[in-house]
Amino acid sequence: VGVETLLEVNNIEVIYNHVILVLKGVSLNVPKGGITALLGGNGAGKTTTLKAISNLLHSERGEVTKGSVKYRGTDVHDLDPADLVRKGVIQVMEGRHCFEHLTVEENLLTGYYTRTSGKAEMQRDLELVYNYFPRLKERRKSLAGYTSGGEQQMVAIGRALMANPETILLDEPSMGLAPQLVEEIFGIVKDLNEKEGVSFLLAEQNTNVALRFAHYGYILESGRVVMDGPAADLRENPDVKEFYLGMS
Ligand code: ATP
Repeated sequence: VGVETLLEVNNIEVIYNHVILVLKGVSLNVPKGGITALLGGNGAGKTTTLKAISNLLHSERGEVTKGSVKYRGTDVHDLDPADLVRKGVIQVMEGRHCFEHLTVEENLLTGYYTRTSGKAEMQRDLELVYNYFPRLKERRKSLAGYTSGGEQQMVAIGRALMANPETILLDEPSMGLAPQLVEEIFGIVKDLNEKEGVSFLLAEQNTNVALRFAHYGYILESGRVVMDGPAADLRENPDVKEFYLGMS
């Protein structure tokens, strides 16, 4: 049975400041209903790949100079990021990026801005987010700036959910979080995938945890995919074990 491909990145090259070649031909697919991991060490090019997909490189003087990015068969590489959101693709940036002076709930509601349906639906989606993140409901009136790192990561994912995503691009969800919280966040990602049908492309340095939750993985080194395969195979691969699992 053919699995539907949502996102198709084909041989992209990215150059920063007109001279620094950072992605040297990266290709990957995100199937509908899957959790796909983009792995690799610091500086391998994971964030650059996600930003190339969502057309967020311009502010960093980066440019896709070769290759294509397609979503459901349509070229999206020149789309305005808000239009990509309307197509169902939301990026959760590294480092969370909450609005610190807004409450948790106000932060969540900002995720709704691209939608045109009414208040009842907004309220329903807010309840859905609180259902997955009960802690956010408890803290809904707190200023986001006063919540913990783990709670801010939840706010960032919750805000993405408010946009009714088909696919979430999640950058380094484990960053700076204690192991127990990392497990909690990944557990929620898995639930969202299984129960809400959200597809994920997640960039992670923490290979160990990512390969336990993902279905498929791509390993990036210096801007190239050096290995890819089902997560179960990668977990058993001797090179992955030696170079990635031993360290994480
Ligand atoms: P990290 O876990 O640190 O985010 P990463 O795998 O996501 O790592 P990128 O952030 O994509 O890696 O960076 C890939 C390479 O591109 C690095 O060598 C980095 O120094 C370089 N780079 C990133 N942003 C820029 C920029 N705006 N200008 C120039 N070089 C950049």
